Amino acid sequence: MDYGRLTAAYAAMEQTRSRLEIASLLAELFHDTPPEELAAVAHLCLGQLGPAYDSREIGLSDKSVLRTLALASGAALAELQVTYAEAGDIGLVAEEALATKAQQPLFEAPLTVSRVWKRLHTLSRETGTGSQERKFRALAELLHDGTPQDARYLCRTAVGKLRLGFSQMLLVDGLAEAFGSREERGMVEAAYNRHPDIGWLAQRAAADFGSLDAVRVEPGIPLRPMLGERLSSAEAVLEKQGGEACFEWKYDGLRVQAHLLPGGTRLFSRSLEDLTPQFPDVAEALEQALPAGVIVEGEALAIDEAGNLLPFQVIARRRGRKHGLAEKLKEIPVGVRLFDVLYADGQETLDTPFVTRREQLEALFTPSDRVACTTLLRTADEGEAEQFLLDALESGCEGLMAKALDGGYRAGARGWQWIKYKPDYRSDLADTIDAVVVGGFHGRGRRGGFWGALLMATRTPTGFETVCKLGSGFSDEDLAALKARLDPLRRSEPPLGLEWNLEPDAWFEPELVLELLGAEISRSPIHTCGGGYAVRFPRYKRQRDDKTPETATGSDEVVAMFKQ
Ligand code: AMP
Repeated sequence: MDYGRLTAAYAAMEQTRSRLEIASLLAELFHDTPPEELAAVAHLCLGQLGPAYDSREIGLSDKSVLRTLALASGAALAELQVTYAEAGDIGLVAEEALATKAQQPLFEAPLTVSRVWKRLHTLSRETGTGSQERKFRALAELLHDGTPQDARYLCRTAVGKLRLGFSQMLLVDGLAEAFGSREERGMVEAAYNRHPDIGWLAQRAAADFGSLDAVRVEPGIPLRPMLGERLSSAEAVLEKQGGEACFEWKYDGLRVQAHLLPGGTRLFSRSLEDLTPQFPDVAEALEQALPAGVIVEGEALAIDEAGNLLPFQVIARRRGRKHGLAEKLKEIPVGVRLFDVLYADGQETLDTPFVTRREQLEALFTPSDRVACTTLLRTADEGEAEQFLLDALESGCEGLMAKALDGGYRAGARGWQWIKYKPDYRSDLADTIDAVVVGGFHGRGRRGGFWGALLMATRTPTGFETVCKLGSGFSDEDLAALKARLDPLRRSEPPLGLEWNLEPDAWFEPELVLELLGAEISRSPIHTCGGGYAVRFPRYKRQRDDKTPETATGSDEVVAMFKQ
């Protein structure tokens, strides 16, 4: 298929803010795509070269794309740099540069989706000496054979900023509409939650739509994690979970989904990234404790010499660290507290009731200092649950997770089968919320040149709603770090699906999640969360790079906090 068919769809999708319309445009696109190019088209719609757990970065910087554009269009590099500084969008610079290209080439090879896909993959594998140069030539060649519109999206994709403003779930809608019906989206989503590779899913949906019903968890492919609701009292938790529940310590660590395969162990993060290279010692500890052929989930924690569990920050220093790993390993020993088993004995266990899964998990291994199950108390008694919470806090945990006795593991879903029970939600004073940055206000005085305040939003099933203007709690380092992180996310329009009244100086792509503290939740005429709720006196706590906008706090959770 001509790459132009894909870029025409991108352009049409950029023109609308209606989710239904975008889903229909995607459906038409999938329909027009030959089977062998479906996986590429689906991934390219998200600006990706593969699923999160097998992601490849193309790794071209804005600067080198500008150089390529100069080569491909004959325009002066300095001019392109000026236009880029003004427009802030590499795609528009590319489109303009190629539209005014001096001479047309004599021979052109057709620019197909397959060709772009293969080239981008080759680019992503280029490393070492001369790799920038080779990347640069390869991109120039593609630009040479495409239209100016193709150039717009090709360059955005090359720098990792395609940003059509929708998530995988809209592609799920598009697939249902293309190969089944809108009514069957639930089945497509269930398949995606178990096998979150949109390219694979697209191919399978096209080949045999009905077979999506039979998609099961497969060792080696991470499934989307289950998420919990939250409540503030043992009484409310017990009531929701049928009078009796399993309360577990809620550790402040790093969530790990471990696949123990005969050929080795793979570890995945909450957002399905491959953590294996960063935590060889976690993999090793798990391999020693558990048999191959299982998928388990737990919280990875740093453990000090006295056996104390240390908080997330300690382990966070380990992420992304490649150099000096050996010394770091000695410095921070890591342990795992397991809380679920998702696959064993050759089959998935998602529909097995929680208590049975837990028994299965405990029977899998003999606990040690490093690998153990989460501390658990099954009770129907409020007082006992509260005392258990106090014990957990004294041991440095964040609170408890309450689990419904008969609850299944609902991949990719948030539900009442899991409930976070933390003390800070009981007083008005210390609620934390994980909200998404959607806008910024220029700072003044000491904060001049930085984002002085941020427009924060909570998640809804279809988008985001603003919940507060966050302007306190930032250190100078925080301001600089936030500026560096947010500037590349600037966009000219409000994010798709955002409900807002308060207009910031700049809009941002909804990507960055921040944890904030609030004094209380109140009704608000300005903010749109839950139809008019806001966090009062919000204070910045930290960046939550382990969270994606999809796992940020929901508007419904904020409203529930208000009602309490
Ligand atoms: P939150 O990040 O506040 O939404 O809380 C959910 C997270 O708590 C999960 O993603 C896990 O990383 C973590 N967690 C810690 N202990 C447990 C536990 N016993 N059961 C489930 N999740 C846990």
